[in-house]
Amino acid sequence: MARDYPNGLWIKCDNCGEILYKKTIEKNFFICSKCNYHFRISHKKYIEYLLDDGKLEEYDSDLETNDPLNFPQYKEKLIQAQKTLGIKDAYVYGLGKIDNIQIVFGAMEFGFIGGSMGTVVGEKVARSFRLATQLNIPIIIVCTSGGARMQEGIFSLMQVAKTSLEVGISDRKGIPYISILTNPCYAGVMASFASLGDIIIAEPGAMLGFTGPRVIEETIKQKLPEGFQKAEFLLTHGFVDLVVPRWDLRRTLIRLLNIIWRK
Ligand SMILES: [Zn+2]
Repeated sequence: MARDYPNGLWIKCDNCGEILYKKTIEKNFFICSKCNYHFRISHKKYIEYLLDDGKLEEYDSDLETNDPLNFPQYKEKLIQAQKTLGIKDAYVYGLGKIDNIQIVFGAMEFGFIGGSMGTVVGEKVARSFRLATQLNIPIIIVCTSGGARMQEGIFSLMQVAKTSLEVGISDRKGIPYISILTNPCYAGVMASFASLGDIIIAEPGAMLGFTGPRVIEETIKQKLPEGFQKAEFLLTHGFVDLVVPRWDLRRTLIRLLNIIWRK
């Protein structure tokens, strides 16, 4: 994340080090005007940027985990994240419109315990797909995550299978699913619904993968190619369909929805 300067007017780009005027960056969708670095933004910003009137009719906003393993310090972490972010867990979803086309829209929040997927994220993602199928409308999810939530152990890992299953069921009913991968998106989330979109869009420079490059290099004892796990690398290798700058995301979604869905 960008480092704030004391007076709050300036922020330093994490990538190029340029000192940037905060208001200008805000107007520029939190993209560095010098190097095109996309600062991490909250799920609220994606709702604001992508949906008509920036409006989401949220579902299941009160769903929260019961800490199934009674994991040390987990409850404190949850309370802290809930207080800071005003959400119960790392994923929100509901109904919204893009260019007046009704969709199910979901977004992950990295600020909430690294956007990790535990039982609540998994359940809400599953419900998102069921809702899209029930209403026969497209679904769009903005993904960002460090992976499965350690504090819920095997219950978290089960969500990988569960969410993938739901993607498959909705897919068979002909429900289009657009996945938007933002920085970073890793591990259990990447290995399930995030990488299963009919159309996979990534933001420029986003780091996307299963395990981090250092662990892979240590395991296979080989140097990885330049740009490995970056959105652009994955585009040239066919894993990602489009790399779209944040300022152009809404327009791209409008174009895609009008091609695949407008009746
Ligand atoms: Zn920069």
